[in-house]
Amino acid sequence: MNRFEYASPQSVDQAIASMNDGAAFKAGGIDLLDRMKEGVVRPSRLVDLHGIKDLRGIKLDDKQLTIGATTTLAELAANGAVREQLAALAQAASSAANPQIRNVATCGGNLLQRPRCWYFRTAEFKCLKKGGATCFAQKGENKYHAIFGGGPSYIVHPSTLATALVALDGRIKTNKRELALKDFFTLPSADYEKENVLADDEIITHILVPRPAPGTRTHFLSIKERQVYDWPLAEVAVALRAEGGKCKAVSIVLGAAAPIPWRAKKAELALIGKSITGETARDAGRAAVDGAKPLAQNGYKIPLFEATVARAIMNTGRS
Ligand SMILES: Cc1cc2nc3c(=O)[nH]c(=O)nc-3n(C[C@H](O)[C@H](O)[C@H](O)COP(=O)(O)OP(=O)(O)OC[C@H]3O[C@@H](n4cnc5c(N)ncnc54)[C@H](O)[C@@H]3O)c2cc1C
Repeated sequence: MNRFEYASPQSVDQAIASMNDGAAFKAGGIDLLDRMKEGVVRPSRLVDLHGIKDLRGIKLDDKQLTIGATTTLAELAANGAVREQLAALAQAASSAANPQIRNVATCGGNLLQRPRCWYFRTAEFKCLKKGGATCFAQKGENKYHAIFGGGPSYIVHPSTLATALVALDGRIKTNKRELALKDFFTLPSADYEKENVLADDEIITHILVPRPAPGTRTHFLSIKERQVYDWPLAEVAVALRAEGGKCKAVSIVLGAAAPIPWRAKKAELALIGKSITGETARDAGRAAVDGAKPLAQNGYKIPLFEATVARAIMNTGRS
């Protein structure tokens, strides 16, 4: 790991003022220090966000849930109001990584972590995302890569929280602006070196989630090779509002499927106006994977997403 300076600002303004060329914000440090140890990044200064009190805490009012960016995943998962009102978000927060990591990793850092792709994480591979000419995953080892939205890079977005937050119409607030998470994450076809539109001198200060309309039920599912201490193969978040037994509004988002949290619009259309039954849930599952473009080693994701979407829809009735 390279030598670096350390700054501990007490306000967002001080944090911005501490940034210089080559500096990096540090929250929990799980992702950043991992990349530093691998020699993938060599920041000259770490600007630690933990001293900024305004960035911490969870508040639910009549309008929305406000989550401070340095709130940990464990704090979000344990919050009673979140578990009651936004079950999918609590389920997502409690499914990421393992308890040790969730006690350190922050919500803001989780959204901004860089891809898990082994080519990206290894200093020896100068892949497309690191200024090289090739996405090695396209023709190489691509078991965990994208089945939607790939090209020219085939990463999947690594954030579990993002999958749930996009399904719940989440927004982020930075020191400069507020924007919907669906507009925050970007496809590699727009910019293959980045995963979002955050500028270098921009800090996520809060994550905002509107209170769901009355009658909305939400559910999040994550399927892994091992259910703890591992990365997801497939994630699905569903927010569904039914009236008179029929689906009036639904949002279905797939994680670990694409370089951004992937809205399964065909699945949503398949469900609108229908009763929620095993059959309509399975139809929606099939619609969710329509148009998928698997690589050589990740075709298994198609039946996996098909079944997980159907199960997550049925589980909204149990949340
Ligand atoms: C074994 C293992 C399994 C894992 N499984 C999962 C999983 O299932 N799901 C999942 O989502 N994650 C998983 N993770 C990843 C882990 O959850 C993330 O690395 C962690 O959430 C990142 O948060 P952090 O606070 O540590 O971020 P940091 O490492 O501190 O920061 C990440 C990036 O964001 C920037 N940054 C951080 N906060 C801000 C801010 N407020 N404003 C601007 N920039 C900021 C930093 O500069 C850095 O580039 C796993 C990790 C391991 C080791």
